[in-house]
Amino acid sequence: MISRSEVVRLDRAHLWHPYTPADTWETTDPIVVVRAKGSYLFDANGSRYLDGNSSWWVAALGHGHPRLLAAMQAQASELAHCALAGITHEPAVLLAQDLLRTAPAGLSRVFYTDDGSTAIDLAVKMSVQSFKNRGMPKKVRFVALEGAFHGDTVGATSLGGVDVFRKPYAGVLFDCVRADFPEGSYARAFEIISDIIERDRDSIAAVVVESLVQGSAGMRFYDPAYLRELRALTERAGVLLIVDEVFAGYGRTGTMWACEQAGITPDLMCIGKAMSALIPMGATLATEAVFDTFRGSKDRALWYGHTFCGNPIGAALARELLAIYKDERILEQVERKANVIAKAFARIAEIHGVRGTRHLGMIGAADLGGSDGYFGGLGWRVYEEARRRGAYLRPLGDTVYVCPPLNIEDADLEMLLSIFEESVRAAAP
Ligand SMILES: *Cc1c(COP(=O)(O)O)cnc(C)c1O
Repeated sequence: MISRSEVVRLDRAHLWHPYTPADTWETTDPIVVVRAKGSYLFDANGSRYLDGNSSWWVAALGHGHPRLLAAMQAQASELAHCALAGITHEPAVLLAQDLLRTAPAGLSRVFYTDDGSTAIDLAVKMSVQSFKNRGMPKKVRFVALEGAFHGDTVGATSLGGVDVFRKPYAGVLFDCVRADFPEGSYARAFEIISDIIERDRDSIAAVVVESLVQGSAGMRFYDPAYLRELRALTERAGVLLIVDEVFAGYGRTGTMWACEQAGITPDLMCIGKAMSALIPMGATLATEAVFDTFRGSKDRALWYGHTFCGNPIGAALARELLAIYKDERILEQVERKANVIAKAFARIAEIHGVRGTRHLGMIGAADLGGSDGYFGGLGWRVYEEARRRGAYLRPLGDTVYVCPPLNIEDADLEMLLSIFEESVRAAAP
């Protein structure tokens, strides 16, 4: 094992970090994680941090759940990897069955991908080819919301509506029609998207939305009724509806899938993040009607796939995770903890300098004002304050939030929320 300072030295010499300006990074003393357990990350220097964002929205069951580790080990020693082209295996088919049992009624096919971004890219390709196969080759455009985030591949970035993440790639991104975010009472936003769809239905393949919450845009929520009306609208217009549950899924918003709160079934549903808990995995779930458009001659097939598609270890983990959700009544836990989060954020709203707070399920967010958007510095001040107090809270510009593991211990949740509150108090302008 190398020393903590050696890790930092080699990091600065060789690593290139996600979403990190190089010059800022060189002057910060990073958390150097050596171990994680439950809701805690342990630094090589002996400090521990509450994992306030489930390690980038992934660890819904915290770290080191013994059943997940056992499932991973058992599967690894039986069959760790094989392709899913011209071959099949038990973990892949059983996971598909389990997923479809929890998914909105009407979704009946599972295509495995490597992560959330590739699940979105796949949904894009499925939509376009589905219409080509139906003799409607002009339907190749997409509608997505302002502030959307659907991942970082070129396809997913094309759908994204956060300027900072798009700008550098202008010129290589495909055309995407941008619709207003349905803030608050959404009537006006709905009118606008209705007009777009009515006008361009012959060229639009699909509408893509994050389900109820835009995570990366700053934990922005919208009314489930908007999603319900959007479903009816797209169905009437012969446009597919792609719902991105990569962040919102797996109970994060209070229900297993956020779109359940709208009572809808999308044509395509993309999942990832919490899905397999420990290793990268994603999937696009489709209706039989979409699947059927790929039947027939060979050129109508979906010529698409990823090397690790349906990886047996990932599949075994994802199945075990669903079993744990049931056995440990994770969604009931969420219902109870969501109330605790709601109360805390009502209190946080009163802090001087806080512009507003909101909460949904296991998510609580506070806006600290500032006009620098994603480059704002206030969120990072909260990060520093929280780090001193023993919590890891990565901000979204001037928005700070918690989205802890769904099974976080009650005492740890109380601690996280009070660290959050104190840190906001200390950092607020
Ligand atoms: C993170 C995220 C993605 C991309 O998932 P990756 O696993 O990072 O590729 C897509 N959509 C949403 C809503 C996300 O939060």
